[in-house]
Amino acid sequence: MEHQIHLEPIKKYHYTKIIATIGPATHSYEVVLHMVQAGVDGIRINFSHGNDEERKEQIGWVRKASKETGKPIAIIQDLQGPKIRLGDFDGVVTVQAGQSLRFRYGADYEREGTLPVQYDLSKKVKRGERLYLYDGKVRTVVSSVKDDVVHARAENDGILISRKGINLPDTDFEGDILTKKDKQDIVFGSENDVDYVALSFVQTADDIEQLRVLLDNLGSTAKIIAKIETKAATEQLEAIVAVADATMVARGDLAVETEAEFVPVFQRKIVTLGMKYDKPTIIATQMMASMTESPEPTRAEVNDIATAVFIGADAVMLSDETAAGKHPIKAVQIMERVIKHAQESGLLNSSYVTESIDSHTKQGAISSAIITLADSLGVSAIVAETKSGATAFKISSRRSHHPIIAVTSVARVAQQLALVYSVKSFIRKDEHLQAQKFTDWLKTQNVLKKGDVVITVSGQHPGVVGTTDTIKVRAIE
Ligand code: PEP
Repeated sequence: MEHQIHLEPIKKYHYTKIIATIGPATHSYEVVLHMVQAGVDGIRINFSHGNDEERKEQIGWVRKASKETGKPIAIIQDLQGPKIRLGDFDGVVTVQAGQSLRFRYGADYEREGTLPVQYDLSKKVKRGERLYLYDGKVRTVVSSVKDDVVHARAENDGILISRKGINLPDTDFEGDILTKKDKQDIVFGSENDVDYVALSFVQTADDIEQLRVLLDNLGSTAKIIAKIETKAATEQLEAIVAVADATMVARGDLAVETEAEFVPVFQRKIVTLGMKYDKPTIIATQMMASMTESPEPTRAEVNDIATAVFIGADAVMLSDETAAGKHPIKAVQIMERVIKHAQESGLLNSSYVTESIDSHTKQGAISSAIITLADSLGVSAIVAETKSGATAFKISSRRSHHPIIAVTSVARVAQQLALVYSVKSFIRKDEHLQAQKFTDWLKTQNVLKKGDVVITVSGQHPGVVGTTDTIKVRAIE
């Protein structure tokens, strides 16, 4: 990728990254380009909606906007997962507390009075388990499962509408969370240049391993994001963070499956675990929900974004705000302003930064040494050559609050690093002394200036993974 583009001075980089979900409100090249120019670092394509033709078009636009701006952009394929929904029926069904409801795969409500479901629940749910409908608005408990019909008792009054979502916080999917549709979508993703695959409704670390096998068999180099949105996942957070490549706090479903007040606690735990394991964390859902309609966010939403920055989240995500909202560009612009202001305040809460799990490995120890040097000298940037991205992931997870310029020959790695805290990635060929040469180039672009002190990180064998061994301190002349 050529970079004849205007680059921002280093002090202007935002460290916590911005992900926007593409949808009807942003379905054109011009809007995608505008979002990237406004500060978007990653685009999420929600595979619960749309079709493959639209997705191919969207991926093409992202890559074109990336070329135009000289900015690697991460494309996230968000799999639908076992998101179970009611089937089709006419009108609104009124539910009263204490009422007995029946559910069956493919039922005809008008004829049988049994609610249709798009999935055979009877194979998974058991008596006594909770069955929540319509984002938890109608709460029921399963009273029995007879043949293929699930009987449940409503705990509150409410209404049901066709195709609304179902949550099963107590149900064990026994490792069976990848649906036929997900498997087809994974093949599409592997053939169409996605950088991350986000796995919905993860319950165990094994779910991640299963997806990893599928991706490996397809020759995909996409990284896996574990979406934390089930009660089961919250019970083995550390094991999931350890095996996934990144984690998303999927606050919408997480609030339904646990309780709303649990979400901020899990959010903080997940970000902290991410730092421990060098795995980026994305905070998602309702960050600017009011901006779906309104041109200004609420005070609480602004606070929510700043809090994400203060606790060291790698990325914050917009969903409906950019997919279907009235002010997608403005939402990105405001998010960017809030991130920068929070970052510049210097109030980042480093007491939540734990020691990395691998400080005693060669790469881990080198990363810790880089941070010690950077902090002592108050450097302007760390310029690191990285083939696989691992060096940049590791330095970033120490949250030193210095910009990390990552130089890699692999486009996929540069795109994946777009979501990583304080990392600005560039694509350059593997070359001896590339970090030093790249530092010279950054000066010609006015990204660095005379008097700046930088740390360069390189290896004796450019292009070979795991050979980083040289740290230099350099004053720009
Ligand atoms: C969520 O539930 O918060 C989430 C991000 O997942 P989805 O938007 O796919 O429901």
